[in-house]
Amino acid sequence: MEDEDLVFPKDRHSIVISGPSGVGKSTLIKMLLEKHAKVIGRKASHTTRPPREGEVHGQDYFFVNKENYDVMRDGDEFLEYNNFNGYDYGTSRKVVEGIVAQGKIPLMEMEYHGIQQVKEKGYAARFIFISPTEPSVLEQRLKRRGSDDENKIRARLEIAEKELEHAKIDGFHDKILVNDVLEDTFKALESYIFGTDDQDMSS
Ligand code: 5GP
Repeated sequence: MEDEDLVFPKDRHSIVISGPSGVGKSTLIKMLLEKHAKVIGRKASHTTRPPREGEVHGQDYFFVNKENYDVMRDGDEFLEYNNFNGYDYGTSRKVVEGIVAQGKIPLMEMEYHGIQQVKEKGYAARFIFISPTEPSVLEQRLKRRGSDDENKIRARLEIAEKELEHAKIDGFHDKILVNDVLEDTFKALESYIFGTDDQDMSS
């Protein structure tokens, strides 16, 4: 599916992608942006987490110190924010507004507390949850990624359990995609976003 062939989405509501650590969200987001840069816009979230190897400031995240983050949060600069596994994360309003001003669909990534805030604010978005085929694959992927020590991986897996529990709440997400074969998940994601949802992989 190329941008030129797309029937433009029925609405330009923002897309919010969530899912447990290690499920493959970042890969899917990168694939979406590479292929649909003309219609989908993403700017990184702000975080106090240190960069992982290979992560680029301004691309993967805006890596900020706690002091600067607090100034932004206290100045109501975040559409939503949350502390995850000891670090702060937030979506800058200005960044999202910039994407809307370009006429693109904003693509955001956040965990469920952030989603809750976005919903409470009545912000128009479609919420997509990426789920593993089974929880054990998360541990394997996090270990393979090698960016967290054993304790941090344990903590991420505990949070992942909560996220998977939350995803069972009826209507919390608009779409749940099980990431088994990456290429298939990507196609299902495109189909959902662009309203050509004919090969339903949702659970
Ligand atoms: P990671 O440290 O693995 O990049 O992200 C940890 C968690 O924070 C993931 O569940 C990710 O989806 C979430 N996250 C990333 N950016 C944001 C954000 O701007 N807001 C919120 N609430 N969560 C975020």
